[in-house]
Amino acid sequence: MKIIVLKFGGTSVGTIDRIKKISNIIISYKNKGYKVIVVTSAMSGATNDLIKKSKAISNNFNTSEHDVLVSAGEQVSCALISGRLIHMGYKSKSWMGWQIPIITEGKHSSSRIISINKKKIFEYIKSGGIPVIAGFQGVDINNRITTLGRGGSDASAIMCAKFFKAKKCIIYTDVEGVYTTDPNILQKAKKIKVISYEEMLEMASLGAKVMQPISIQDARINRIDINVKSSFVKKKGSLITKRKNIIRNKVITGITSTRNDAKVTLIGVKDRPGVAASIFKPLSKNSINVDMVVQNISANGKETDLTFTISADELSKTTKLLKQNNKINFRKLSIDKNVSKVSIIGVGMVTTPGVSYRMFQTLADKKINILVISTSEIKISVLINKKNQKKAISSLHKEFKLNN
Ligand code: ADP
Ligand code: ASP
Ligand code: MG
Repeated sequence: MKIIVLKFGGTSVGTIDRIKKISNIIISYKNKGYKVIVVTSAMSGATNDLIKKSKAISNNFNTSEHDVLVSAGEQVSCALISGRLIHMGYKSKSWMGWQIPIITEGKHSSSRIISINKKKIFEYIKSGGIPVIAGFQGVDINNRITTLGRGGSDASAIMCAKFFKAKKCIIYTDVEGVYTTDPNILQKAKKIKVISYEEMLEMASLGAKVMQPISIQDARINRIDINVKSSFVKKKGSLITKRKNIIRNKVITGITSTRNDAKVTLIGVKDRPGVAASIFKPLSKNSINVDMVVQNISANGKETDLTFTISADELSKTTKLLKQNNKINFRKLSIDKNVSKVSIIGVGMVTTPGVSYRMFQTLADKKINILVISTSEIKISVLINKKNQKKAISSLHKEFKLNN
């Protein structure tokens, strides 16, 4: 059986007109002889609206009910797509996660798919039907609805491709593929024809919203090739695949940025063994993810400053925990939400010396001050003032020859 998974993102199903258009795309694959499995996101804005409602009810909304609520958007788009396919004369049916079921584990709002029951869907596609599956949702061992984190319908599509052994998995979105940087921020961004899982994972984790990071991990582990393309224009998209399938002559593959970080500095922390552990233990216990960390060398051997970044959403929780922490002493707590993390990513930097120097010099030439730096084998991130975000991206894009 030649199975294909087609996933449609929020904008691709954002209006009735868009749903009619993507229904034609679905049928074009059916006509090519594929057994099509559709995975859909909610209509754009729907999930945000539901989240807003939960916040209006309670600032501590029950996590289980939260997932019941926010998964509702996908039910609407699923039924609208199936309804349209039926209207066009095809056999189609919508499936919520629990009806299949798609089994997940882990916490509400960040659950992971561990298995998908294939029986009913297989029977249905064999009988010529087109199943339209709600992305972003599953059901846990207690039979409660779960969700997979923002952008999670990408992971739903990739796990469907894995469990149904699809020949192809296409992620239809509102841009033509994966670009060297967000094309909505920099017009000069170029479409990347082929990108490795490793680079895509770094890009996604560092702010390239086009793919959800977890979904790339799932694809990498299961060796599933992903095509990312536009549902608006008929053009060749990008392929996300194994590193060994790729020949690249550029040092840097992409540039990303985030705008939802907060920088926290503890000034005058007593410099003694175990102090960093004492600071971060309560944060870790409360599932607060600490990203970049820098500790200054102590000038007098007694005190030091420690700076780290977290998601701005966690700021009030973090400051509360730091103030309550009687295991640490510091003189002052300083906070900056006006920051952006800009990162350059590329496997090419493993074998090319001087990449960090080029990055820092480029930013210096533009008079952009670097607040914090962090690196890994294939990425360098810098924290800068938010107002310089676009200037930094555009100058780095030019420096690393991504404009052409
Ligand atoms: P969907 O609703 O289809 O899942 P998303 O909004 O989640 O779409 O992702 C698509 C968006 O990702 C684009 O509109 C674009 O602004 C953003 N984006 C950020 N970085 C990149 C990048 N490097 N390449 C392509 N798109 C990117
Ligand atoms: N509708 C969900 C969200 O907005 C899932 C997705 O779009 O992939 O996060
Ligand atoms: Mg998305």
